[in-house]
Amino acid sequence: MEKLTVKTSKKEEFIDITSLLQTLIKKSGIKNGICHVYIPHTTCGLTINEHADPSVKADIISKLGEMAPESGNYRHMEGNSPAHIKASITGSNTSIFVENGVLCLGTWQGIFLCEFDGPRTREVWVKILC
Ligand code: ZN
Repeated sequence: MEKLTVKTSKKEEFIDITSLLQTLIKKSGIKNGICHVYIPHTTCGLTINEHADPSVKADIISKLGEMAPESGNYRHMEGNSPAHIKASITGSNTSIFVENGVLCLGTWQGIFLCEFDGPRTREVWVKILC
């Protein structure tokens, strides 16, 4: 398993990790297989979505904020329940096919680490199998 370290700089942001993953695939030498990506955190998620227009990321963050607002009747004493809820909505893992040494993503797709309780130093665990 490979581990990527990603430093986030805001409370909430989506960071495109596609090129970091592509670099790991190149390093692995695996041409055809599958790339498993896992986020080992409870207030940080993972999603695949549009990387061309940054407004898409902003819209997703905004809508998640409506679904889990900062103030609410939360029981979790740490005070970051909205971040936990958003991380559950986005999920913590994904798998992408690798063909000819390249991630098989749609033209407009990127793979994003979703920070909901930053800034923090996050890990991304990656396993590339052929
Ligand atoms: Zn918490």
